[in-house]
Formats: sequence, C-alpha cells, structure tokens
Amino acid sequence: MEAIVTIENLRKYFDIKKSIFSKPRKVKAINDISLNIPRGSIFSVVGESGSGKSTLGRLILKLIEPTSGKICFEGEDITDLGSKDLIKYRREMQIVQQDPYNSLHPRKLIKDIVGEGLKIHYKLPSDEIYVRIKEILERVGLREEHMFRYPHEFSGGQRQRIAMARALVLRPKFLVLDEPTSALDVSVQARTLALLKELKESLELTYLFITHNLAVVDYIATHVTVMYLGKIMELGSKDEIFSNPKHPYTMSLLEAIPSAGRGKRIRKIPRGEIPSPLDPPKGCLFHTRCVQAMDICSKEEPDEIEISKGHLCRCHLYS
Ligand code: SF4
Ligand code: MG
Repeated sequence: MEAIVTIENLRKYFDIKKSIFSKPRKVKAINDISLNIPRGSIFSVVGESGSGKSTLGRLILKLIEPTSGKICFEGEDITDLGSKDLIKYRREMQIVQQDPYNSLHPRKLIKDIVGEGLKIHYKLPSDEIYVRIKEILERVGLREEHMFRYPHEFSGGQRQRIAMARALVLRPKFLVLDEPTSALDVSVQARTLALLKELKESLELTYLFITHNLAVVDYIATHVTVMYLGKIMELGSKDEIFSNPKHPYTMSLLEAIPSAGRGKRIRKIPRGEIPSPLDPPKGCLFHTRCVQAMDICSKEEPDEIEISKGHLCRCHLYS
C-alpha cells in the first residue's frame, strides 16, 4: 500500500525544569521514530499517557516543530515548510481532539464553528458555505437546525460529531483522532466509533488513531504501533499484532482486554507505573516493568527487529 504520510528519524525534545532552581533537562518525548502510514488505513498509536502519542500526532500535523527528522505528506517533504506554504496541508490534514467539552468555542453558533475553516481556506459565496455546513452536519448525523445552536445545547457525543464536522468540512485526506471517544459514555463510544469507520470508507480518509484502549483498536484499526516513553516498541498490522504479539509490553496491554482472546500470551500485567520521561531507564526502556527482563536488558537498548514482513519489535528476546 502506498504511504500517505512517511516519517523518518523523528525526534522531539522538550526542555523541562523540575523547579525554578534546577537546570533544564531534556525530555525525549519522541525519540527517533520512523514509520509509514498507508493510504486508507486506520493507523492506531497505542500507549499509556506519557508515551508520546499525542506529541507524535501534533508533529505530523506540524502544530509543533520537530527537533530533528523528516515528515512527508503524499511524497512531499513538509518538514521545513513555513506557515504560508503549509496552508494547503492545513486543509488536507485535520485533527479531532479528545475533549468535546473544551474544543468548541462556547459563545459561537455551530454554523460558525463548523464554517470557520471554510472561510479561512476557500473564498466561497455564503450560500455555498451554508450548503457545505448543512451537508457535513447531516453526514455526521446532525440536522440543519443544529446550525443555529450553541455547543452547550448538545451532549458529549453530539459535540464530538460537531468537532468531526468541523474537521471534515474542509474535505481532508488525513485525520488525526486523538482519543476521540475516551471522554464519552460507553454506549456513545460504540456509536461514535461506528460512525468514524463509516466516514473513513465513504470519504476515503486515512486516520492516525491515538488511543490507550486496545478494545477500541481491535474494533477499528488496520495497523497498530505500540509506543513507550517516546519509542516504538512494536508495530504491525492489527491482525498480526493481536494474533502474534511479540513484545512483552504489547502482551501486557492485550492481557488487559478480556475480549481479545486470540493468540498465546503471558498472563502477566506490567509491574508498577510508567517511569518519568525525565528519568527514562537505561537499556531497554521497559525493563523496570518487564516480567521477562534478562541481564542484558538493563544494560543495552535493543534494536528494532523485523519479526516478519511489516512486523517490527524492539526486544532482546528476538535478537
Ligand atoms: Fe523485556 Fe528485555 Fe524485551 Fe525489554 S528487551 S521488553 S526488558 S525482555
Ligand atoms: Mg495524549
């Protein structure tokens, strides 16, 4: 499959001060990540909070600048483009954030929230803008009369649909969905995921789908990347990762979902909490919590190993 987004050796380091008296320290939020996102895929990025998944999404959209590395969209290097040259990509790459309660301006009508991007990006007559807003609202299951209401008049699920309409009205090709359903009730989550899946097919989109929930990944994703402290631990097709997980961290995440009863796994969950990104462990980043850790694991960092075509894993068990 042709890649719509390619990233090479991407790094994002932040300077963080523990207190006003201490020297700033580097946090490696994204630490040398390379991957290809196939066109038409639902490419999920999985990990606990602090793994760097949201930072990765924001880097790809150029909402923040990388420390080093390269980002290509449809074969074009967009890493060093300034804001003027980025305008075209701003239409084609959109984001839907986690929180439907804070992401919509409380004092704006829905038509103005959804139509804002259209006014910025296209010089369309206002009747055409009206039609585009109406159409996209209907596409996500809302109605024309909703255009004249305010965000507080809607439920969480409806607000997330409004956020989706705002992103989709520009007819993007690529969408970053950052935990799009994690703030919603379970029943609403299921319907929202079904809608996202349907929109992906009918509008020929590609998703970067950020989540910590493997059950959601099982339902929606075509590809899975497992991140830990800014690095990729394992990557492959959804079917391969769920039926043949190799990394102990992936296995422990899968262990936490009772419904994913496929494949053989180790019946152990990771010990303790994810370490602070300010003080990442030496050697394998996961060794402080790994039930299979060996002597070498606290000393040497494992390389990425190709288990089979398209299935990568970073673990000494396979080197
Ligand atoms: Fe566990 Fe060692 Fe593999 Fe890291 S390299 S995941 S510590 S077995
Ligand atoms: Mg996040």
